[in-house]
Amino acid sequence: MDVALVTVGDEILAGDTVNTNAAWLGERIAERGVDVERITVVPDRVEDIARTVNEHRAEYDAVVVTGGLGPTHDDVTMEGVAAAFGTELAASDEAREWLVDNGYAAHKLADGTTHIPRTADLLENPEGVAPGCVIDSVYVLPGVPAEMKGMWPEIADDFSGEPRAVATVEAGEPESKLIDRLLEVQELFDVRVGSYPGDTVRIKLQGETEDVESAARWLRERVEEPGDTD
Ligand code: ATP
Ligand code: MG
Repeated sequence: MDVALVTVGDEILAGDTVNTNAAWLGERIAERGVDVERITVVPDRVEDIARTVNEHRAEYDAVVVTGGLGPTHDDVTMEGVAAAFGTELAASDEAREWLVDNGYAAHKLADGTTHIPRTADLLENPEGVAPGCVIDSVYVLPGVPAEMKGMWPEIADDFSGEPRAVATVEAGEPESKLIDRLLEVQELFDVRVGSYPGDTVRIKLQGETEDVESAARWLRERVEEPGDTD
């Protein structure tokens, strides 16, 4: 199974907000053995949201959209998703009932709070007012991180693949010196190898448990540990 994430928000594009939602969701999805193949950030603009959702749902098994829910003027995600499916927004009685059952006064809810695309199913928001929704293979979640995380358990089981084993080997050598060993470990073992330089070089190995363990052992015997001075 493969997935695309769509992050909606002018503030993400401007650098005012760091896209921690995509990082968090990416990790949750990957640990279920599902590949995240795209993360696209789009502005709060109906046409951009609709076009991106349509491109991604044609190409990937599922699309997870976050941000831009609720009734404020710049929250147009539901409208964009509705446009992608050629439907319109409609007030959801289920959302209203859920909010009232959870202590919100119906007359105090701002206009549009309960609107989701007409053909979508509601996703309840246990941490806030704006509901999410699922329509076909597209999941729409709020942008507020606590709300997005609170709703993830409602949809997590729809994301299932073959969980991969992961091992990390830290090397205290410049990445340029590791090139041959990185190539060799890839040739010798059936693993996917990622190399991420920082203060140390973090080498990430993924695959079947046995292959990952053997590859990690092989590498640890051949790279300098961080802090080694000789
Ligand atoms: P609400 O219904 O509360 O308005 P929303 O779905 O409309 O939520 P946004 O208006 O897009 O969410 O964002 C609300 C706040 O959530 C932002 O000010 C920002 O702090 C945070 N936020 C939004 N998107 C992200 C993201 N991708 N990563 C981290 N934080 C985010
Ligand atoms: Mg908002």
